[in-house]
Formats: sequence, C-alpha cells, structure tokens
Amino acid sequence: MSGLRISTWSLQKIASACGAELRHGRDLHISGVNTDTRTITSGSLFVALRGERFDGHRFLDAAFERGASAALVDRRGAPASTTPQPLLVVDDTLAALTRLGHALWQEATRAGMSTVAVTGSNGKTTTKELLAALWSTRGEVWATPGNLNNHIGVPLTLCALPESCDHLICEMGANHIGEIAGLIRLAPGDTRVISSIGAAHLEGFGSLDGVRQGKSEIFECADAATHAILPCAEKDKLMLEGFAGDLWTFGVEEGARVRVVTCHEAADGNAAMDVELEADSRKLTLSLPLLGIHNATNLAAALATLAARQVELEPKQLNEALARLQLPGGRFRQLEVGGVHILDDAYNANPSSVRASVEAFERWAQRRGCPSAFAIIGELRELGEHAEGAHRELAAWLATRDQLGGVAFVGTYAEVMARAYSEVQPEHEVRAHSLVDDDLIAWVAGRQGAAVLLKGSRGARLETIVDALQHAP
Ligand code: ATP
Ligand code: MG
Repeated sequence: MSGLRISTWSLQKIASACGAELRHGRDLHISGVNTDTRTITSGSLFVALRGERFDGHRFLDAAFERGASAALVDRRGAPASTTPQPLLVVDDTLAALTRLGHALWQEATRAGMSTVAVTGSNGKTTTKELLAALWSTRGEVWATPGNLNNHIGVPLTLCALPESCDHLICEMGANHIGEIAGLIRLAPGDTRVISSIGAAHLEGFGSLDGVRQGKSEIFECADAATHAILPCAEKDKLMLEGFAGDLWTFGVEEGARVRVVTCHEAADGNAAMDVELEADSRKLTLSLPLLGIHNATNLAAALATLAARQVELEPKQLNEALARLQLPGGRFRQLEVGGVHILDDAYNANPSSVRASVEAFERWAQRRGCPSAFAIIGELRELGEHAEGAHRELAAWLATRDQLGGVAFVGTYAEVMARAYSEVQPEHEVRAHSLVDDDLIAWVAGRQGAAVLLKGSRGARLETIVDALQHAP
C-alpha cells in the first residue's frame, strides 16, 4: 500500500491549491489531514473547522501537542502571536479543505484514476462497499471510509486518496436540495450511481419528487462519456433532462439492463444469498453475503458500473471479491445472545428501509427455524411534517405482516404506532417505550428461541439493546 497522495505535496503546494497564505514551512510535507484532535496522528495537517456548536480553532494547541505538523486556520482563529508551527491561513477553512480535496482528485484523475460516485436514499454505503469489492478485482481502490459522505466527509475522503489509486468509490449523501450538486463538483466521476429512491430525509426534500430532484443532481456536469446507473423503476421519474451520457438501469423489472432474475437465500439460515442476474443479456450467478432483495439490487447497481465500463464479468473472480465483503456495523449483523436470534439492522432507518428490512428478516427467521419473530422498531427521524402520518402508516403496514408475533415501538411516536398497530392487528403483542429501558431489555431477553429484529433511526440507539444483553449477568 502506498502513502497518501497529499504526503507527496509540499505545504507550499497545498497552500496554492487551497488559496492559503502560508506562514512558515514551505517545503514541509504532511502525513495526512485531520479535523478532530481526538484521532489526530503525528505529522498531520489539522484543519480547524468552525460549526454552529463547535470551533476547531479552540483545539489548535491540543492538535500541535498531539503531533500535528501544521494547521489550516481562518483569519479570525489564527493565533495573534507568531507561532513556531506552520499555519495555512484562509478566510474559510471548510472552503479551503474542499478546494484541496478537489485538487487532489484532479491530480489523481489526470494520473488515470476512475471515479464512481454513489448517492441514493438507501443503500449508499452497502453499494459503495460492493463497488469497492468488485472494482478491487481491477486494481487499487480507495472508497469513502465509513459513512464520510457529506460536505466535510467527501473532501476528507479525497484528502485521504492514496498516492496510487486506480478506482475511487465515493459515497455522497444529502438531506436537502442542492447538496449533491455541490458534492459531485468535487469528484465529477465518469460513473454516477443512484442506489435507490425512497422516503428518506423528507424534512429537507419536502416530498418524494424533492428526493428525486436532489438525487438527480448527481448527473450534473456530466458529458457524453458519463455513465449513469439508476433504478429501473425510477428511470422516467428522475430529472434526467440534459443528461446526454450512457444510461444503465438496474432492478428486478423486465426492462432493467442489469436485472436481478432470482435470489435464493441460504438454506442454513446464514445471511447470504445466491443471486441470479442478467447483465445486458449475459447471465451470471453470484454469492452475496447479505440478505434481502434490496441488497440484490444494490449488487445489480454495482455490477452495472462494471458492465457500463465494459469490464468483463468473470463470476469466479467476482465471487471471491464478494466473499471478502464486510459492511460497517448495524447493517444486518446476525448474532445470538442468550438464546435470542438477533438481526441487528439498527444502523439507520426510514420508512422504505424498514419495509425492506422486515421482509428480509421474516425470511431469515423462518430459515433459521425460529418459532416466533418480533420486531423492535425505533423512531424514524428527519421526516418533518410527515412524521406522525409516516409512523402511523408504517405501524399499520407492520400489523399486516402475519409472521410477526409482536412488535415493540421505541421513541416519540411509540404510543401513536402502538395504537395504529392494534387497530389493524388486535391479537398480537404490542409495546410502546419512549426509549430503550430495562423493561424492554428484559422483554427481549425473555424471547428465547425467537428471532428479534432491531431497526430504527440512529437516534433511537437500538444497538444498545445488544450491548445490554451481551453484558447481562
Ligand atoms: P446513510 O444515508 O445513513 O448513509 P446509506 O444510504 O448509506 O445510509 P446503508 O448504510 O447502505 O444506506 O443501508 C442502511 C439501511 O438501509 C440498511 O440497513 C437496509 O435496511 C436499508 N437498505 C439498504 N439498501 C437498500 C435499498 N436499495 N433499498 C431500500 N433499503 C435499503
Ligand atoms: Mg451511508
């Protein structure tokens, strides 16, 4: 593994890339870029960001104490006295970090790096990891670490580009219109993917069409050589006016260019499936260590990028790459604690991902031979004025799932959901908890032999149930 591209740049070069005034250290080289003194490593450039609730300039001394070699600061936050440490001084540190990330991307692209940019309501990180696995069969890959997908995360991802990198896979997230337009300009890749469209971040986007508009921004500043990869069902709904590039659709629908024909989940109850696909009339079957149709379509989206760029699809090599797939925590993690079979999908949720998750969970519980199945559904955040109605609708949908023997709702709308559930399904056990409490944990612990799904927005912190069960005396 090579070092970072930025470590080959002198501070003088970094200063010109981000329009900074450099105080000392023209020829100094840094080892990386960091915005958080808690994780800073020796030799880094510390970027002091200014937010609504925090000001990185307050941590300048701590950054240098922990080994930072230089700092990027704004004029207001630059130390008044002359410091012995090199400083890059700008008007706006976030804008400077953004320019720096883009300059690194440009240099890497000139050196031959390709870029796949991924956005979507759900499945961005999963698709990004699938892309990283598949493209690693074709050279060195650098992919967004974790979920660094916003206006700070994307520049940081680019600042961490390795010196030698053949393929960049960059996740881009948004919770309002205009955000993706800004991000895609930083890394206007040759291949752009929308993983899915769903009711996520409605607070910022206003409506499903608002979501479509926001995600369609990923196709801005494209040219005839750009590949657009999008869900087949969304082809006529996304805002593609003016896009003159190469269009690829994926999904379960007949007309999809990369189509999921069937998917068979593992008979042994493990989270894995065999997915039969057709890519531009070529058939192939791949083993995917994930569950659910939505993950099969995430795989189809990732494969479409290979097909679009005319990369030969060799199942053996692709299967080997998929076998190494590891998703960050809370995405279909399966574990057994105290005799309870838990499917922890609690990383995050919105109305469409809960449905996808529950459907996959029911089949998983059945194949594991669990005599009963329960879902713990945490509050869904960022739904704005739609929140109460969306929670009620979701509860009514859950009540139609025959396989669930009961549901526990957690959070602000727990009572509302419990009532909506009982109206449709008065027979089942239903519970309402304002937060994860001892009572709920004891209830889960008592479900021996049963399957339990954890699904909710990050704020609901359902994963704490697993921690509590694991540490139970
Ligand atoms: P975030 O916006 O938080 O970055 P993300 O888009 O990166 O989320 P993932 O982390 O890949 O999404 O998946 C989050 C959850 O969304 C998964 O646990 C799963 O329940 C669900 N999910 C994944 N892919 C899809 C999809 N294509 N359609 C619907 N739901 C999906
Ligand atoms: Mg993500």
